[in-house]
Amino acid sequence: MAIDTFPEFQRDELFYSVISRHKVRLGYQDPKDITEDLFGSRTAAATYDFPCRLRRFCKRLPKDAGITPSSIIKDNTLFPIYEPFLAKARAKDIRKKMACSDFGGAIHNALGVMASGVRGVNALRCCPECVDEDRVECGEAYWHRSHQFPGVAVCHKHKVPLLESHIRVTSRQNKMNFQALEKGYDREWRELASGNSLSLTDVWIAEKVHWILGQELPIWGLGVLRKKYVAHLIRLGLASPLGRVRQREFEKEFVAAFGKSYLKEVWSDVEGECNWLIALVRKPRKATHPLRHLLLMKFLGTEPEEFFPDCGFGNQPFGMPPFPCLNPACRSYRKPAIEEVKITRHTNSGAVVGNFECECGFAYARTGPDTTAEDRFKRTRIISMGSVWEKELQRLDKDPSVGLRMKARFLGVDPNTIVKYLARLNGSGEIRSQKNDDEKGERIAEYRSRLVSAIEENPEKSRTEIRGIAKADYIWLYRHDREWLMDNLPPSMPRSKSSDNRVDWVKRDDDLFSRAKEAIPSLLISTPPQRVTKGRVGQMINSLALLEKHLEKLPKTKQLIERNEETLEDYQLRRVRLAARELRTRGENFAPWAIVRKAGLRPGYSKKVLREIERLAFAEV
Ligand SMILES: [Zn+2]
Ligand SMILES: [Zn+2]
Repeated sequence: MAIDTFPEFQRDELFYSVISRHKVRLGYQDPKDITEDLFGSRTAAATYDFPCRLRRFCKRLPKDAGITPSSIIKDNTLFPIYEPFLAKARAKDIRKKMACSDFGGAIHNALGVMASGVRGVNALRCCPECVDEDRVECGEAYWHRSHQFPGVAVCHKHKVPLLESHIRVTSRQNKMNFQALEKGYDREWRELASGNSLSLTDVWIAEKVHWILGQELPIWGLGVLRKKYVAHLIRLGLASPLGRVRQREFEKEFVAAFGKSYLKEVWSDVEGECNWLIALVRKPRKATHPLRHLLLMKFLGTEPEEFFPDCGFGNQPFGMPPFPCLNPACRSYRKPAIEEVKITRHTNSGAVVGNFECECGFAYARTGPDTTAEDRFKRTRIISMGSVWEKELQRLDKDPSVGLRMKARFLGVDPNTIVKYLARLNGSGEIRSQKNDDEKGERIAEYRSRLVSAIEENPEKSRTEIRGIAKADYIWLYRHDREWLMDNLPPSMPRSKSSDNRVDWVKRDDDLFSRAKEAIPSLLISTPPQRVTKGRVGQMINSLALLEKHLEKLPKTKQLIERNEETLEDYQLRRVRLAARELRTRGENFAPWAIVRKAGLRPGYSKKVLREIERLAFAEV
């Protein structure tokens, strides 16, 4: 029998709630009748959190309803907040149980929620403001799933205390009875979190629970979660660089952060040798309740949105622009530079493919969608190298101290590619036909003349402004005729009207520029690593005082230094990458702690550095 009168599923509505509204709408009296009609069983329980028999239920809906077991699990149950904190196999097993099993109790056991000590809610809850709003928007109030998660005491949207209904989900008489919110709603129901005024922790928990429920977070497994937590503890100085947790300090600070009574209230006090907190950062053997993961994240100063980076892509399979250039020879290497992604489909598999092209001429493609923030820096295929990359290759080729492997490493490709490109570049004069040359010559002339007119029409404009005015011509020339372009553009900043005649600052600038240009790379490859700063460069070229006092008169040198100067964070990032590369080439352990130790980082580095450490440690070889 197909049910074509089923109510529409509302946003953030519990599956239980939809059924309860159906029950009222059709005037069912005996609860067994409705479970028989919907699930083909007169003994099915009315489970609010993890319903089962979903496949049978969906079969009874009209085919075009677009409701599947997966869509219900994702949109109308509490499972999405449990899933990312389970082992992969366990999560899969539970999904299967929810779709096919007849016995809901097995799901609770498999989740380990009973054993965790965190109690489920006693009775269903609602927010009085949501009730008013839903009545206006949907015609009736319904049970929101975000309100039913243990530890949530306020509405994530309205920030008011939730009301606890009289519908006790644990009682025997309600076991099979789906109860609609509209049937019993009473504004005088007891307020949760009313004794003490609303705390920031309450609001934070409510918001994060709601956010996670709306995502499809990746399942990393218990080991990876633990590593990420320990990396945060190392950063905070609560674990040694080797990852040994300073247990007593950690516990003490954790309890101080939330207060003993709050932790008790949410069934999560920290007592005894093997309490949940310590278990979570040691080798975890079993899953821990998601509420406790949230508490730990809050303590570590992070939040799920950051902990699970860039997961909510939705219809943006490659995240938001600008995207990084992945050409190591480009000034924008790994920096946000590319404004657009062109999305195509893979011919055979139909997978979504992003095509990215930088101003430097480098273009790459990546098969998506991205699942982590780090996917941004991966490429499936290089489409073109571009002139900047080729020039850098030619430059490296002239340097006898740089071998083939080194070239390949500097340019981010394998040695074969280097050989291929060198052959092509060096032999290009003969290979290229006269016709192509003529054609290209004509096009160059065309672009040049258009750019020249743009400059002539705008005599006051700076280089950047010209670039904005004649964007297409600029980009084409930048790729194909860069030297001419740079020689003919107006200066990038208005020239300073210096009247200092005694010293030839231009000549001095040129001189310092070329010396600094040699000094910077040698700083970058020195062992142990040294941070690139104005002072350090000044020392190396014996012109520290000059750089400190007169940098304004040395525009070329100034620009060079500013472009290469490292913030403390940049410097730490470089050390971390260097350390990971060394560990990896030597075949040593490159877990986060090993990288931290090798790089000689002290606690107190930023989250960005931490993320890079994690990326390096967890990247596939
Ligand atoms: Zn509300
Ligand atoms: Zn680039």
